[in-house]
Amino acid sequence: MEIDEKHLWKKRIALDIDGTLWDFYGPFFEFYNNKYGTNYDLTDFNCELAKLLNLTQEQLNEEFREFEGTAYCEDLPLYPNVSEILLKLSQKYFFVLITAKDSTHREVIRERLKRKLPKFDFPIYFSGDYVGAAGGKDEICREIGCEAIIEDNLGNALSCANSGIKSILVNRYWNQGGEHENLVRVMSWDEVLDLFP
Ligand SMILES: [Mg+2]
Repeated sequence: MEIDEKHLWKKRIALDIDGTLWDFYGPFFEFYNNKYGTNYDLTDFNCELAKLLNLTQEQLNEEFREFEGTAYCEDLPLYPNVSEILLKLSQKYFFVLITAKDSTHREVIRERLKRKLPKFDFPIYFSGDYVGAAGGKDEICREIGCEAIIEDNLGNALSCANSGIKSILVNRYWNQGGEHENLVRVMSWDEVLDLFP
């Protein structure tokens, strides 16, 4: 990972992308329901999307890639105040993005980040390249020295918490339950700011 020298002294925080920075699953369900005449909504979702839709991970990736080429995906809305809060925190912290997607999504994600968060130039890690092998988000966090992660996926947040990484779980319909001494649930991004004084 190449980090500009001016950021080297900063503490590192890992950031998930979909469902954490911007709404992804709402627009995805809209796309999916229209394509297949189904009726899924966010209240059906519990972080295990492939299981819910009865797809293999590869089939789900295929659906994601198709979704990414449609109008549903053109303007995924950032959650409130994400940009302002990241900007404030970035005076002291350096953010590294870690998505569970694989790197076939790299260009689309980069493009969207450029449009949505133009003031940042984040390094991006794709833990989806390591499915079934070493390289989960907890391992990536340890490898690059992130002391905390901000996530919407309960499983990822718990595995990072188990590895001693401070896990901030942004409250969503799909990530209820789960407790750990290293896990903090926040109701909104505004609360994230208070955790990193
Ligand atoms: Mg996510």
